[in-house]
Amino acid sequence: MKRVVILGGGTGGTIVANQMVRQLRQDIDAGAVEITVVSNTEQHVYQPSFLYVAFDLTAPSDAKRPERQVLDRRIRLVQGEADRVDPREHAVVMSDGVQLPYDFLVIATGSRPAPEEIEGLAEGGHHFYTEEGALKLREALQSFTGGRVVLVVGVPHKCPVAPLEFTLMLHDWLAARGLGPSSQIVYTYPIGRPHSLEGVSDWVKPVFEARGIDSHIFFNPELVDPVAGTVTSLEGETLSYDLLVAVPPHVGQEVIARSGLGDSGNWVPTDRHSLLMQGTDDVYVLGDATNLPISKAGSTAHFQADVVAGNIVQRLRGGHGSLRYDGKVFCFIETSLRKATYITFDYQRPPQPVVSGSLLHLYKLAFNHMYWLSAAGIL
Ligand SMILES: Cc1cc2nc3c(=O)[nH]c(=O)nc-3n(C[C@H](O)[C@H](O)[C@H](O)COP(=O)(O)OP(=O)(O)OC[C@H]3O[C@@H](n4cnc5c(N)ncnc54)[C@H](O)[C@@H]3O)c2cc1C
Repeated sequence: MKRVVILGGGTGGTIVANQMVRQLRQDIDAGAVEITVVSNTEQHVYQPSFLYVAFDLTAPSDAKRPERQVLDRRIRLVQGEADRVDPREHAVVMSDGVQLPYDFLVIATGSRPAPEEIEGLAEGGHHFYTEEGALKLREALQSFTGGRVVLVVGVPHKCPVAPLEFTLMLHDWLAARGLGPSSQIVYTYPIGRPHSLEGVSDWVKPVFEARGIDSHIFFNPELVDPVAGTVTSLEGETLSYDLLVAVPPHVGQEVIARSGLGDSGNWVPTDRHSLLMQGTDDVYVLGDATNLPISKAGSTAHFQADVVAGNIVQRLRGGHGSLRYDGKVFCFIETSLRKATYITFDYQRPPQPVVSGSLLHLYKLAFNHMYWLSAAGIL
């Protein structure tokens, strides 16, 4: 029997598993192939919903389903924490010592926000990158009566457009509550333009100007003083705030560090086209876990899942696994509470947002529900 182990039951891991089952049903039923997903959480969470939770537009329970229900019944689900990957033994070792041998391994462990990397941020600021964080921010926004809101951005972080979406939605949200005239939004960004993607940066500059959003570039948040209500950058600039919201820097997961597989940020060195872990022939990596300098997004994980699932299936059938990932990413961008635009790009073609509109916003809301079809490997 050939064993495929998928480490991580989030967006990328779940799509890979379900897509493989769709192609390998008969082999699995005949006992020739086994697909195992290892997940340390029982619930599958659609993380983009946290942005809407912060504005009280949805409840966390609307965006969660048991992972067992999201996976095809033919997939074996091992619930628990993976302690490490042992590529020499071709096995994943669970924290209770159980070994899961593999012929092919897919690393899909994602990333985690690390607000603790900015001193004082946990005490003085908010974020919307976890359910807990989004709920706390929701309460802070509900009791906000006007003042200066500062947004700071750590790198790297998942969802490249989330800082823009939060800022533009906040502008609309404050206006709707009559707090526009008594509030000021200060958007900061770590590099020399308001977004890492040049086309997006060019697009957003006039949008910010038209809405009176103050933009500070070259601002790498280093220190938050919750008592003084200030945030200071590595570059030496200090901004005062009444409400501080952060997109925290992210790191790869501890299991990558424990396995000795990652770089200093726990990102796994990955071939940008084959998605094989560098130096191996039987370990694929996808989604946030890779060290690829591309957007960490659910759509990235999805497009990569097509390649990884296809290649493993080809190879189980004696082929070479010749599909290649072209760097494709697709992101909706909410431009207010009622309008959105989108970008699509790859290794060769840069992104260019289109004119925003209410139809695109409705598409985005519809996708938030259709995600479950995508996770099931159908869309
Ligand atoms: C607020 C917010 C808004 C976003 N908006 C968008 C958007 O609009 N569009 C978009 O495309 N993307 C968006 N994203 C990003 C998207 O959610 C992630 O990029 C995507 O989930 C990455 O998929 P992944 O499979 O790599 O990781 P994940 O989906 O995070 O899955 C990783 C899984 O591995 C598990 N795991 C980790 N370590 C272990 C271990 N040791 N043992 C067992 N299991 C383990 C984790 O618990 C998790 O279930 C957003 C994210 C956030 C937080």
